[in-house]
Amino acid sequence: MGETRHTKVLIIGSGPAGYTAGVYASRAMLNPILVQGIQPGGQLTTTTEVENWPGDTHVQGPDLMVRMEEHAKAMGTEIISDYIQSLDLSKRPFTAEGDSGTTYTADAVILATGAQAKWLGLASEEALKGFGVSACATCDGFFYRGKEIVVVGGGNTAVEEALFLTNFATKVTLVHRRDSLRAEKIMQDRLFKNPKIEFVWDHEIADVVGEPGGAGVTGVKARHVETGEITEIPCAGFFVAIGHAPASELVKDQLETHMGGYVVTKPDSTETSIPGVFAAGDITDHVYRQAVTSAGMGCMAALEAERFLAAEEGDAQPQASVYAATVDAAE
Ligand code: FAD
Ligand code: NAP
Repeated sequence: MGETRHTKVLIIGSGPAGYTAGVYASRAMLNPILVQGIQPGGQLTTTTEVENWPGDTHVQGPDLMVRMEEHAKAMGTEIISDYIQSLDLSKRPFTAEGDSGTTYTADAVILATGAQAKWLGLASEEALKGFGVSACATCDGFFYRGKEIVVVGGGNTAVEEALFLTNFATKVTLVHRRDSLRAEKIMQDRLFKNPKIEFVWDHEIADVVGEPGGAGVTGVKARHVETGEITEIPCAGFFVAIGHAPASELVKDQLETHMGGYVVTKPDSTETSIPGVFAAGDITDHVYRQAVTSAGMGCMAALEAERFLAAEEGDAQPQASVYAATVDAAE
């Protein structure tokens, strides 16, 4: 049997929300434990250039996340490489079981498990994962040097993935189910100017063609959304970039969720339906889904956890309560 670790604040997740919560909870002297999960640094480790993190005109996603980890550690967050496989929020202290065998007990929990890539749900897509089907251009793009690639999706991720893949591929075909993109205009401009990119509008992917273990992916079948006509597009790599879904499996039967699994928080707050449990970042945000908003929510969650714990301990003047009192007084 593994050891049991108790902490005042358990932070689950190591994206911008988790690390920011770590910085603030550490500075509140709460000695938080942060469990990183299988993607230390979170989604930004799967991208290259980040151009909208304030203070950095250009920064590589993985570099930014290393800096955030170092910052949280320097402030006093204990960062643990483990994956939480179950979480019991039915009684206090809350209990989390790690894959390592360690049991974590906590007076407050900050959920910052973010989001995971969505898949189309085709049997052929599943069978060819790792044989030409991917959801991460920065991870797998290198394997397609001198080859043709298809990307599906119309948001920022699809545009970024397509642009990045032109570094390797001879041609990148973007297949989108409508005739306009939802990506930011600046990204669209870059995409339309790139001579290596072709577009197949108003089509969805009907099938991925290829042999697992053999030749791998050799093409995709795209179906016109109105006529149903099928076009086969040859390619060696197929990248799915159709968005992300909240990683709320751990709490789906315990906390109130909505809109396909996003954890519900109170207005202007990270408080969930269970007192002492806070949610920050993409696990709760179906609107903005940005690094900076996730970091902001991580800050809020730590301040609210501090206030919650202080109220339980009967501390008259915790820092966050002072903020709350100020707001209350102003109203
Ligand atoms: P995430 O970054 O999703 O991190 C979740 C963390 O939770 C991970 O560390 C994971 O290991 C951990 N975790 C999950 N389950 C468990 C578990 N059971 N136990 C322990 N840990 C667990 N945003 C921008 O602002 N600018 C950009 O340029 C930008 N580019 C992007 C490019 C790509 C390709 C993608 C996919 C996203 C991009 N985004 C960008 C969005 C941004 O990455 C997210 O909004 C942000 O990372 C969300 O942060 P988060 O902390 O909520 O969660
Ligand atoms: P998204 O904005 O939700 O876009 C998903 C895209 O995939 C949409 O174009 C959607 O089509 C399409 N799609 C969804 N399901 C599909 C299906 N089953 N078949 C075919 N197409 C499907 O997701 P995202 O691009 O991953 O972005 C997520 C968040 O991260 C956003 O908030 C984004 O701003 C942020 N992000 C930011 C940056 C940046 O700032 N540089 C980079 C990446 C991501 P419809 O358009 O028809 O709905």
